[in-house]
Amino acid sequence: MKIVKYLSKVDSEKCNGDKHCEKYCPSGAIKVVEKKAVVDEDRCVACGKCYEACGEGAVQLIERTEPITIFTDPDTVDQLEIQQLCEKAGVMPDISICPCTKTTPKEIAAAIIKGAKSPEDIVLMTGTGAGCGVYCIAIVFRMFAAADIIIEDDPRWHNMTLMADDVPESIKSEHPVYRFGELF
Ligand code: SF4
Ligand code: SF4
Repeated sequence: MKIVKYLSKVDSEKCNGDKHCEKYCPSGAIKVVEKKAVVDEDRCVACGKCYEACGEGAVQLIERTEPITIFTDPDTVDQLEIQQLCEKAGVMPDISICPCTKTTPKEIAAAIIKGAKSPEDIVLMTGTGAGCGVYCIAIVFRMFAAADIIIEDDPRWHNMTLMADDVPESIKSEHPVYRFGELF
């Protein structure tokens, strides 16, 4: 869950249309139209990436009049489907995977079951990926793979990080000192 209290605002006088903000926005909220950046307020999750990317000082984060809550309730989908998807991805359903939003794999699973097809959808449905985007994205990628959904290459997302479960059996047996099977 993410409670979004702020909103990106562009000073069009300062904006030179170089699209640096657009390139990093995890929710597709900021786009350059006719050489000026424009923010879709409904999609902005106040991650601050556009603010960091803008070399012209054209972006500010301002307080929203009403905060918005981004959350997909796992109780609104089939619990067996959640369990099966988490099992296939090799993740525990109830453990937080995101230090920024405290999202659980079961919330990601619920978003996928409800139709999420990309990390951008996950950002908009759960808030995950709207913070650092480092730790969570490995699990998000694993869960899409478990759902047989292919994620297109996109510079906004870190590559899928390998986990202990991905180490081939041949390597595990050669290096028993690491005791891969005892990690979880
Ligand atoms: S990065 Fe800054 S200057 Fe460039 S398009 Fe975005 S708001 Fe405008
Ligand atoms: S604050 Fe984040 S979500 Fe909002 S427009 Fe900027 S990059 Fe996109």
